[in-house]
Amino acid sequence: MDSEMAIKDQIVEVGRRLYANKFIAAADGNVSARVGDVLYFTPTGMCKGFLKPEDIVTTDLTGKKIEGSRNPSSEALMHLEIYRLRLDVNAVVHAHPPYATGYAVAGLALDKALLPEVILAMGCIPLAEYSTPTTEEVARVIRGLVPGHDALLLSNHGAVTYGKDLETAYYRMETLEHFARISIVAKILGRERVLSEDDLRRLYASQYKGVQEGNMAVKLSPSPGCPLPAESLAASDEETVTLTRSQLFEIIDEIVNRVQRQ
Ligand SMILES: [Zn+2]
Repeated sequence: MDSEMAIKDQIVEVGRRLYANKFIAAADGNVSARVGDVLYFTPTGMCKGFLKPEDIVTTDLTGKKIEGSRNPSSEALMHLEIYRLRLDVNAVVHAHPPYATGYAVAGLALDKALLPEVILAMGCIPLAEYSTPTTEEVARVIRGLVPGHDALLLSNHGAVTYGKDLETAYYRMETLEHFARISIVAKILGRERVLSEDDLRRLYASQYKGVQEGNMAVKLSPSPGCPLPAESLAASDEETVTLTRSQLFEIIDEIVNRVQRQ
């Protein structure tokens, strides 16, 4: 197990990377780690790019401060909920990376089967409904999504990733933002060629084979974190019709007129 000093150093380093990569601005974002019954939090109200180990605050598993001259992250309730729901998780990273947050502001999930490596690393990335940041509402809206996913978009807010250690949680944030950038470029180029169900089946099968052969690098959980294949997107496209309000009223008027003429 890492020493207390090593954990604080790692949190400082994750904060530095988040700021250097522009995943956060000013005093945005927060990072935490769990070691046994102790949680380590970045402090609230400070830029996470320039923290020192002594700025890190420790709390118990209910968020009650144990040690530190500062106060823990204002989003501590979100972190606590993730630790409560996922005993396998020992680190949480919350940031506002601009491309992924653009999806969250547009009300779009990153849930299409587009990149094999992202699918294997994180499954799909759903969009949690909007909730007021720093309140208990955030814990409520992520509750149903946390058990089956390792990364979430938060509507009109940002993203949160988590994993077995700080490195895993941070790299998931990096992968999420990279995936959002690639998705936007594909959209600008005019189309996203989504992998088929068959492609996904073969992708998952290739990894199970790897596990059987002793390669334990990738642990799969295809469901419910499985992204949407081309077939299900085509099906939903067929069922969706978009009309303006005036087009809708025209159709209603037309139907009413026909009924009245009969
Ligand atoms: Zn935030």
